Amino acid sequence: LGTFKNYSFTSRIPRAYRSLSTLVLAEHDSGLLKSQSLSAVEAAKSLGEDNSVSMLLAGSGPSLQEAAAHAASCHPSISQVLVADSDKFMYPRAEPWAKLVQLVQQKGGYSHIIAASGSFGKNILPRAAAVLDVSPVTDVIEMSGSQIFVRPIYAGNALCTVRYTGSNPCMLTIRSTSFPVASKSADSKPNPAPIDQVDLSTFGEDAIAQSRYIGHTSQDTERPDLGNARVVVTGGRGLKNAENFKMIEKLAEKLGAAVGATRAAVDAGFVPNELQVGQTGKIVAPELYLAFGVSGAIQHLAGMRDSKVIVAVNKDADAPIFQVADYGLVGDLFEVIPELLEKFPEK
Ligand code: FAD
Repeated sequence: LGTFKNYSFTSRIPRAYRSLSTLVLAEHDSGLLKSQSLSAVEAAKSLGEDNSVSMLLAGSGPSLQEAAAHAASCHPSISQVLVADSDKFMYPRAEPWAKLVQLVQQKGGYSHIIAASGSFGKNILPRAAAVLDVSPVTDVIEMSGSQIFVRPIYAGNALCTVRYTGSNPCMLTIRSTSFPVASKSADSKPNPAPIDQVDLSTFGEDAIAQSRYIGHTSQDTERPDLGNARVVVTGGRGLKNAENFKMIEKLAEKLGAAVGATRAAVDAGFVPNELQVGQTGKIVAPELYLAFGVSGAIQHLAGMRDSKVIVAVNKDADAPIFQVADYGLVGDLFEVIPELLEKFPEK
């Protein structure tokens, strides 16, 4: 090594960032910014006061340019909106998005890139990180400065504090339930942030060749989205079959709640797996979480233990769910749910 002593090497370990600049990868639907993406903005804000936050939106058509981009530009914490308008981004596929993030990073040199830890962020951010040759930090629930983050491990049974020692950009997915969105203040900003179009002239076709969009299926339902609902009613294997599970749906309807399910209920075919709550399902933290016929396995608790008030009904007094429940009722759900349905007024 002595022979190299006159050379200076560029360390991959960054010095403290002199100025913070964060790119938030955002999702939008019919012109509306998704609340998870707004949580990512909240997370970006908590990186440091001097952080300048840009939002990257991609898609095509007027709902992107006129509605989503406009809403982003009016957000009080966003200082720049970048728009990639092309039918290449019609669907949120990881390959073109990763390439887009690389393109935008080359120009913007952001210190941080953040996406919410939903199916969009989990799909896109790791691939973008691989393209940029950095290691992402996933599922962050707390920022302790610009390079130290808290994230759950062992299905949420322990919290781990990690320090990012890689090069720029530091790429993070965040749990949106840990960064609640402040009350709406859009449109109140006197000077909306500039909306800049991303120059896609160097965007090669090879970037999108590896995957093809086939289709999209989702439950056609009026119910609130499971990830953001204020109240969630969850059913477990104790419901016994899909027909009985309809009681859970009826109760959710009366409460204006989202429906959740355990993996056992999903595996048994009572409901589709998009309703699964837990380590390998959705992470929820509603105001009120009602669990019927749910034992409370750690993998399930990993997805709901941060709920503000947990109510559990189980016929087994020793069921572990009672250890996390604020209110527990030892009883038969086939008696309790019909009684609740009778008592709650029709919506
Ligand atoms: P059970 O454990 O069978 O519990 C049913 C409960 O219903 C019992 O407590 C019983 O007393 C009660 N009951 C029965 N009849 C009645 C009645 N008439 N009235 C009242 N109570 C009644 N699980 C998840 O939920 N989400 C995940 O994301 C998840 N990820 C996993 C990942 C891995 C790698 C692994 C290994 C497992 C995962 N699991 C997950 C599965 C998890 O370990 C449990 O098997 C599952 O959560 C159990 O679901 P359950 O509570 O519905 O069923």
